[in-house]
Amino acid sequence: ATAGNAPMQSKSFDVFLPSAKDGEVVTRFPPEPSGYLHLGHTKAAILNQYFARQYHGRLIIRFDDTNPSKEKAEYQDAIIEDLALLGIKADQQTFTSDYFDVLYQMVIKLVKQGDAYADDTPQEDMRAQRMDGLPSARRDLSVEDTLARFAEMCTGSEEGRKWCLRARMSVDDPNKAMRDPVIYRCNADTVHHRTGTQWKVYPTYDFACPVVDSLEGVTHALRTNEYRDRNPQFAWFIEKLKLRNVEIWDFGRMNFQYTLLSKRKLTWFVDQGKVTGWDDPRFPTVRGIRRRGMTIEALQQFILATGPSQQIINMEWDQIWTLNKRIIDPVVPRFTAIVSADKVKCTIAGAPPAHEKAVPKHKKNLDIGNKTTVYDPVIYVEQEDAQSFAIDEEVTMMDWGNIYVRSKEVDQAGKVTSIEMEANFDGDFKKTKKKVHWLADSSSRPLIPVELLDFDYLITKPKLEEDDKFEDYVTPVSEFKVDAVADANISELKEGDKIQFERNGYYILDKIPSSGPRKFIKIPDGKVEGAKS
Ligand code: ATP
Ligand code: MG
Ligand code: MG
Repeated sequence: ATAGNAPMQSKSFDVFLPSAKDGEVVTRFPPEPSGYLHLGHTKAAILNQYFARQYHGRLIIRFDDTNPSKEKAEYQDAIIEDLALLGIKADQQTFTSDYFDVLYQMVIKLVKQGDAYADDTPQEDMRAQRMDGLPSARRDLSVEDTLARFAEMCTGSEEGRKWCLRARMSVDDPNKAMRDPVIYRCNADTVHHRTGTQWKVYPTYDFACPVVDSLEGVTHALRTNEYRDRNPQFAWFIEKLKLRNVEIWDFGRMNFQYTLLSKRKLTWFVDQGKVTGWDDPRFPTVRGIRRRGMTIEALQQFILATGPSQQIINMEWDQIWTLNKRIIDPVVPRFTAIVSADKVKCTIAGAPPAHEKAVPKHKKNLDIGNKTTVYDPVIYVEQEDAQSFAIDEEVTMMDWGNIYVRSKEVDQAGKVTSIEMEANFDGDFKKTKKKVHWLADSSSRPLIPVELLDFDYLITKPKLEEDDKFEDYVTPVSEFKVDAVADANISELKEGDKIQFERNGYYILDKIPSSGPRKFIKIPDGKVEGAKS
């Protein structure tokens, strides 16, 4: 499968943006560089690009970098890379921080109009007052005093740090988003990854978003509908600042069962060492799922198929992995691995002497080329298969021929230690019940030890409720390792190559370690929920 810049699928949703004019639509995807892109962001990014292209308009990627305490250049660079991998191409890349001067002018204007005031109410109290619909003691602070406090905030002084600016919208509007939201904060100690120490005050998302959307010419701001309560607030800023209107079009969040889609929560897993990093194969990040063998094609198809639904959907992983399997199955080469630590040595009487042969890597797709299979009178099979053989049973050795099982050595624990077989290579494979995989060792093409990895979900509950603490639902063990041996052909594989191990499943070769066995990560195929060990 091609992992690179897969073309955007052109699927039509029969969904239209309100008052959209062909050639004039401008959308934007506004990631905050506070973590790596996850599946939820993928939906937003793909939808924004879809509508921009559909209406022959423009797509802006805007880094929403207004909170230096959470943001890093590392995240920004990773987001740029991941978007490129997803085939998302912006017509313009911008930063909210490019507008810090303008936003500063805008907020001064609001203050002078009497539409904002400075407040030093402690956070807890402010939250309680907003809940109860009570005014802050500072609500009537004059324009002059507010400007003086804001100037103090801008110096980052001891006193300035105690204050913030709030929009004078409403004390007790039934919509709590309208209750005098905070629009500027003092953050004096943190270095912004782009503007350094130039600013000691930063606009909040609530304030920056409508202003920058309007100034950048965004015609349609797509956002998830949990922000719907904030739409009147957005409109309030536009009106007070006499800015060009922006149409808000909201869509349902995309969630996945047993999965956390929140940078804050994912950061916790990274910081606690519960995962190996942002690209952990258990992570729902673009990097994590790619490392686990998800193709970009499957991701795009999935999101465009689920479409711009208004419902908050709690997707099952099976659907997207099934889609992925359909894409990889026809194109990935097939190899053989034996997973039992106690593989069974079999001697086949009447087999030709050791030899090698070129055979197709995929019988239904000869374009993938050939591999070299070693044939030998001594072969190995899985313990589980060996146990199932009856004496004198005729069994097919895959891609070779039939044999008769003549005798089995079994130890006290009931394990098969060796088997004597007899060749019947002209036998009809359609007549046998069992077609098993096998491996032959040879000094020129020795079997290669490998590690097969499989994973479970990181959390134990399909859907966490509002008041569930996610920390209470962490799966105790979510990584499973099995030692195996594989045929020598796998030595040609490179990091990220996807394959199938016959009768076992799809795998992707992880980064090749400098020492120790190669690791293959199981690619879920949608057949089983979660991992099995
Ligand atoms: P997080 O809580 O993970 O930080 P966020 O929404 O705060 O998510 P942003 O970087 O601010 O992260 O989001 C960029 C865009 O991605 C926004 O338009 C946001 O609405 C969208 N988005 C985030 N999560 C999802 C999701 N689960 N489904 C659909 N869109 C999402
Ligand atoms: Mg955000
Ligand atoms: Mg968030």
